[in-house]
Formats: sequence, structure tokens, C-alpha cells
Amino acid sequence: MGKIEELQVINGEGYQLSKLEKVLGVARSKSVWPLPFATSCCGIEYMATVGSNYDLSRFGMEIMSFTPRNADLLIVAGTISKKLGPVLKQVYEQMSEPKWVLAVGACACSGGIFDTYSVLQGIDKIIPVDVYVPGCPPRPEQIIDGVMKIHELVKNEPLRRRYSDEYKHLLKTYNIDVNE
Ligand code: SF4
Repeated sequence: MGKIEELQVINGEGYQLSKLEKVLGVARSKSVWPLPFATSCCGIEYMATVGSNYDLSRFGMEIMSFTPRNADLLIVAGTISKKLGPVLKQVYEQMSEPKWVLAVGACACSGGIFDTYSVLQGIDKIIPVDVYVPGCPPRPEQIIDGVMKIHELVKNEPLRRRYSDEYKHLLKTYNIDVNE
């Protein structure tokens, strides 16, 4: 569990109070379960981030999930061709709420150097992205920084966000059904 300040605890005589939203947010942020969707060079950089030098397991997320049903963070690292786009979208749709997306590297963020007919010019053309990590490739430190930003979002997300009209509208713009 997180540090006591993160939970915004009120101490009383024989009791401690916090908000359910805060407790869930901190618990979720310390147990993110990533699904790496790695297609090319940025994927190798992600592997370095998980390896012993950079050790992503320090942040409670060493176990990768290769099934979307058991993941809540989609990490897209690499070039995504237009042909692969529908597969990525299907993976995203199969993840249950709440879920977050990290775009790693210039290709995932914007198509990168591949300004060509066959490459998707950024994964946000087909799925919503929470955090973008620029670079070609980004260093592991940058990827870790992106992961930390995801943790901040997870920790501070209001419980009602996924049921809000704004969120439903966001998914609708991507032609994605709301999981309820
Ligand atoms: S951003 Fe650069 S390093 Fe990453 S997948 Fe694209 S070409 Fe490779």
C-alpha cells in the first residue's frame, strides 16, 4: 500500500479515515498490470526497461499480461501499420475498465519517421491515449517517466470518471462501445 500521505488519512484516537476513492486509486497505481504491445525497436527499449538494470518491478508491475482480459495498462511500443491497427483496437476493446494507454516512442505517438501510406500516423487515430513518451527510441528513463505519469493518473482518477458522459463521448468518437 502507498505512503500514508498519498491516502490523505485523517488520524483520530483509535481510528484512521480516508476516502474509498483515494484508497482504490493508490492500490490500483501500485499494482498496474501492463500488456506490452511491442512491434519493433521501441519494444526492445521497453524490454531493457523491464530488465534488471532499470527494473520496472520496483513499481509493482513486473508481471506482464499477454491477455487483454487480465491487463489494465496497454503499452504500445513500436511502429503500428494500418493493417495492424484493427488488431490493436481489438486488444484495447477486450480490456475491461478502468484501463489506460501509454504510447511509447515517436512511431506509436505520431507514426515517427514513417510518414507513409502503410503506417498509422499515431495510435490515437484508433484508440484514446493517456500518456505519450516521445523519442526514437525513448530511453528507459523516459519510459519509466511515462509509467510514473500513468501512475499519477491512476492514483488521482475519480471513481465516477468511467461513467461520465465525457468519457462515453470520448469512446464514441473512436467508435468504441462502453464496457458496463
Ligand atoms: S520510434 Fe524509432 S525506435 Fe521506436 S519503433 Fe519507431 S523507428 Fe523504432
